[in-house]
Amino acid sequence: MAAAAARITAVDTYDIRFPTSRELDGSDAMNPDPDYSAAYLVLRTDAEDALEGHGFSFTIGRGNDVQVAAINALRPHVIGRPVAELCADPASLYRVLVGDSQLRWLGPEKGVMHMAIGAVVNAVWDLAAKRAGKPLWRLLADATPEWLVSQVDFRYLTDALTPDQAIELLQRGRSGLAEREARLLHQGYPGYTTSPGWLGYSDEKLTRLAHQALAEGFTQIKLKVGADLADDIRRCRAARNAVGPDIRLAIDANQRWNVAEAITWTKALAEFDPYWIEEPTSPDDVLGHAAIRTGVAPIKVATGEHVQNRIVFKQLLQAGSIDVLQLDAARVGGVNENLAILLLAARFGVPVCPHAGGVGLCELVQHLSMFDYLALSGSTEDRVIEYVDHLHEHFLDPVTIERGHYRAPRAPGFSAQMLPESIARFSYPDGDFWAADLARTEGTRP
Ligand SMILES: [Mg+2]
Repeated sequence: MAAAAARITAVDTYDIRFPTSRELDGSDAMNPDPDYSAAYLVLRTDAEDALEGHGFSFTIGRGNDVQVAAINALRPHVIGRPVAELCADPASLYRVLVGDSQLRWLGPEKGVMHMAIGAVVNAVWDLAAKRAGKPLWRLLADATPEWLVSQVDFRYLTDALTPDQAIELLQRGRSGLAEREARLLHQGYPGYTTSPGWLGYSDEKLTRLAHQALAEGFTQIKLKVGADLADDIRRCRAARNAVGPDIRLAIDANQRWNVAEAITWTKALAEFDPYWIEEPTSPDDVLGHAAIRTGVAPIKVATGEHVQNRIVFKQLLQAGSIDVLQLDAARVGGVNENLAILLLAARFGVPVCPHAGGVGLCELVQHLSMFDYLALSGSTEDRVIEYVDHLHEHFLDPVTIERGHYRAPRAPGFSAQMLPESIARFSYPDGDFWAADLARTEGTRP
């Protein structure tokens, strides 16, 4: 099919689950048994280049089938779209998906349906970047401020950020871009590691992994907290002893506490000099976060991985609720909404330290931070991307970490593509792994 006439011909979906709960990888105070999963999709076209767009939502096991069903519900909006037009203006599809008047009832702009929109929109960006022959971070950094702003939905934002203000931020952000790109390609983008700190790990394993993080060049690690205060005190002491006084130690409660409890618990850990407390309470509690921030200062407050959309981020910033904004590549409405969130953070001068880990979240979010550095915030100071060292082997273009830094990806696309053999093996329930596992444990699993 001639390039100009090519259309989207298929949206193929897959329920992919990894049995990570067996080793307590990913365990925290609210999620004791996560099986890291991806509701995964592939956009196929009839173009001669045979390029595909890959995207996914991250979930943790049961419910991944629900997430896949939500992606399937969007299929009629995608099939038949002209590829060139879609890739030249991903916002055209974003607006249709967010605006579906019947599906919108299930949100609006939150939850399972919104995550499905994010997966589809991100797949479009993957396809657009592949067609442009650029990694996504470069496609975004090369774009004009006007075009980037055309990709943002300013509905519900203009009391905090107008399109004109966004253009001004992006114009200012471009100054010195070439120099920063050279630095990015040479040094990479700073990361921090959560690998030592899962709640289910023994103190011995925590200490060993903290030492390993130091040896690998990380300058920040993170510990899960919030299940038992005596345990947290013991684990924070072990971690601080392992890394010494100069490494930043973040703590993460995964929404475990009420507001007053968050303040007392965090203060009880203050002697270990935590850098930030992450997700101290419900991600919807804008004013609660503001109270916690006042109560625990100078310890910083961070949240974002479960923040539903740009409107809640706007309020967190307006209310002075957070010191650190932790956007997630696959929670909100894809790249388009994350551009809005990056612009809001720049407007309020709050550093973005993305949530990652899970399945493929490191692969995706590195592109957004690198764009932010090159063409918007212009700084990596107090900015780090979360890193967790599992499941990267299932990706075609996995992240590369050197001396605690993310190397800038070079391959065209959004680094979203999983290996076909991984998709086949871990598809639930019929992939080789799960078919064998379910046969072995028949009748004993929920
Ligand atoms: Mg977290």
